[in-house]
Amino acid sequence: MARVYVREIFAKSIVSKSGIIGVDYTINPYVGCSHGCIYCYARLYTSRFWEKLVGNHEWGYFVLPKINAAQLLRKELKKKEGGLILLSSVTDPYLPQESSYKLTRKILKVLAEYEFPISILTKSPLVIRDLDIILGLKDVEVGFSISGLNSALVSHFEPYAPSVKSRLAALKRLSEKGIMTYAFISPILPGLTDSHLDTLFKEIKKANPDRVMVDLLRIRPQLWKYIKPVVEKALPDYIKLYNKIRFDLSYFFEIREMFNQIASKYGYELEWMY
Ligand code: SF4
Repeated sequence: MARVYVREIFAKSIVSKSGIIGVDYTINPYVGCSHGCIYCYARLYTSRFWEKLVGNHEWGYFVLPKINAAQLLRKELKKKEGGLILLSSVTDPYLPQESSYKLTRKILKVLAEYEFPISILTKSPLVIRDLDIILGLKDVEVGFSISGLNSALVSHFEPYAPSVKSRLAALKRLSEKGIMTYAFISPILPGLTDSHLDTLFKEIKKANPDRVMVDLLRIRPQLWKYIKPVVEKALPDYIKLYNKIRFDLSYFFEIREMFNQIASKYGYELEWMY
């Protein structure tokens, strides 16, 4: 049986007003995300869809492609005022299923007819497939989320996401093509992200993004049951700290200076999201 349950749906709308700072609209071509990151808060926002449509399939094990996404977009954009569109926010626009569904590709083709600034955020090198369209967009940037370099540890937290190495290689490729790019160090996973910080920035610098953003790990109460067993297994020495972070975010403020200093060594002034 396939690992991921896929069920096509007809969405009612595709452009959502965003609550993210600096982002006006979001477009999510899929419900669910087969990367299955254990810290993902998106599972909390899509739960009302799952129960009806995906039965017992857990987060990371179902994907519902919105097969009418491009048609909806064309209709909806006519009525929208200008503003930054983020692809995506509660899924990855370049899931493995995108290879065959090409929903993000079709969405980008529609967006190319308009002048909305676009930000694409992904964990997948599949975005390279759409270079032909991205190169023709007037105002676009592409970002890659990166939580650390230790691939064995990363795979505990992001079990089905493409390797960080492949993300950095794709980031480099896009930067070389003259596309605006960013690295999004997110979320900071104590004991992973901050354990080889100099090497992390060195590798990011090689990929040469235009900017680097950083965000912390927010452990919402409903997520602890997913995160706790992974930390106990992968980073047992850090379980106390993760437990503290649930209620007290001071750790993330204490490490900011260290991040800033190392980033500046590589020519980056970090953009903090918290
Ligand atoms: S890639 Fe993003 S949306 Fe997908 S599971 Fe990971 S954090 Fe959630």
